[in-house]
Amino acid sequence: MKLYQLGNGGGFDFDQVASSFLIELENGEKEYILFDCGRGVLKKLQKMEESEETKNIFESLAFVFVSHMHDDHIGELSSLILYRYFVLGKMTTILTNNKIQENLKQYLELTCSTKFEGSREKRAYMFDIRTNTAFISHNILNNTVFNINDFQSFTDSLKYSSPEAQHPEARKKYHKRFSVLSTPAFHPGIEANGMLLVDLVLNQGIYISGDTKAIPEIEHFIDKVREQFPDISLKLFHDFSYNDVPTRNVHACKTDVETEYSADFRACLNFYHTGEKKLYNLQTT
Ligand SMILES: [Zn+2]
Repeated sequence: MKLYQLGNGGGFDFDQVASSFLIELENGEKEYILFDCGRGVLKKLQKMEESEETKNIFESLAFVFVSHMHDDHIGELSSLILYRYFVLGKMTTILTNNKIQENLKQYLELTCSTKFEGSREKRAYMFDIRTNTAFISHNILNNTVFNINDFQSFTDSLKYSSPEAQHPEARKKYHKRFSVLSTPAFHPGIEANGMLLVDLVLNQGIYISGDTKAIPEIEHFIDKVREQFPDISLKLFHDFSYNDVPTRNVHACKTDVETEYSADFRACLNFYHTGEKKLYNLQTT
């Protein structure tokens, strides 16, 4: 599992690629998950395709995870869908939570509309928005998506029922290799969700918060995941703003973080959405 941070721009860093991540899954062949698709992301992906290492991103996109509907997170999503539909002949799968699903569907039906092929039926083939326990087909076999309400099912899916299955090679055979959990907006009033992705064979996980606040529920959630799966090495990405005014911020800021999180938890967070140019590129394998 390989993670590229495509951009670290905050909502008002207009000169930068907006905060987004690309995760590469190696499961026979390469497949990609895109976390958010705001400004500058498509240009960045096109640039990456020039490299032999990452040459088929648009073609091999398993799904796009949408954290919420702010422009810096979905500003280029329609173009991505239209490009994949008209140029590559592919439907784009989108994953989000059920609160966002309906609004996003309406938004995309408008922004992906075309003069000549404007019927609902046609547009329906361009994208498919999934939530909860939707099954992600494509080439990622046994991939399952869960909502936070299905935490039990999520944890069950990651448990190994037989001693043989403890062997990394066997896990792939007996159990679901990749599991994705869409978390709710932990902060009331913020319609956003984060993503937890786990690779059982490599025992690795990535959590990306989306735009949220520093709130104790997130630490509790991660504690719960760690308790259930002590073997999984987790990388945590949390949004952050240097504007240290908790009441005028949709992000974690210094005061929030120091008040709401334990020192231990703070120490293992990678803060993003900060507008800093330095990007986090991680090869977890
Ligand atoms: Zn944002």
